[in-house]
Amino acid sequence: MTFQRVGTRRLTVETPSHPTVFLSFHTKPNNDPFVRLQQSTHSPLPFSPKLAIHPSKMAQRVTLRTRNPYNTKSNRRRVIKTPGGKLRYLHINKLPTAPKCGDCHVALPGVKALRPREYANVSKRHKTVQRAYGGSRCANCVRTRVIRAFLVEEAKIVKNVIKAQAKAAAK
Ligand SMILES: [Zn+2]
Repeated sequence: MTFQRVGTRRLTVETPSHPTVFLSFHTKPNNDPFVRLQQSTHSPLPFSPKLAIHPSKMAQRVTLRTRNPYNTKSNRRRVIKTPGGKLRYLHINKLPTAPKCGDCHVALPGVKALRPREYANVSKRHKTVQRAYGGSRCANCVRTRVIRAFLVEEAKIVKNVIKAQAKAAAK
């Protein structure tokens, strides 16, 4: 059986029993090509005219790999092609969000972004930094906190000094 391209959308097939059979080449809206047999002028068709052939077979069906059949946010999956050329579902876990500074809501540098249960499986150095408020507040916010506390204490001392000076002057 030899295939010969005629025009842009027509093929002629020559078989030993049937010299010429026209195959019209269609393209579905989703660009999935398939071949439909058409009545030729001379020979009776070797196949049913309604028979449609997919040149590249049907799309391979994929089966779920877990027992959860629902299409929910936590049950996402993607179709991948394995090294063996088969299509398969890849189940995708939810994405983690990075821990944020409690004051300015910036993602904390040096702290890993993991799903909640994954924090139980990693050591403490992945969840914190070695600083006061490490793993809770960012370095800039700790800095302002330290300065603010220092200034508050200084203001208290200054207040006491002024009070003592006023007392001494009154005497
Ligand atoms: Zn901050």
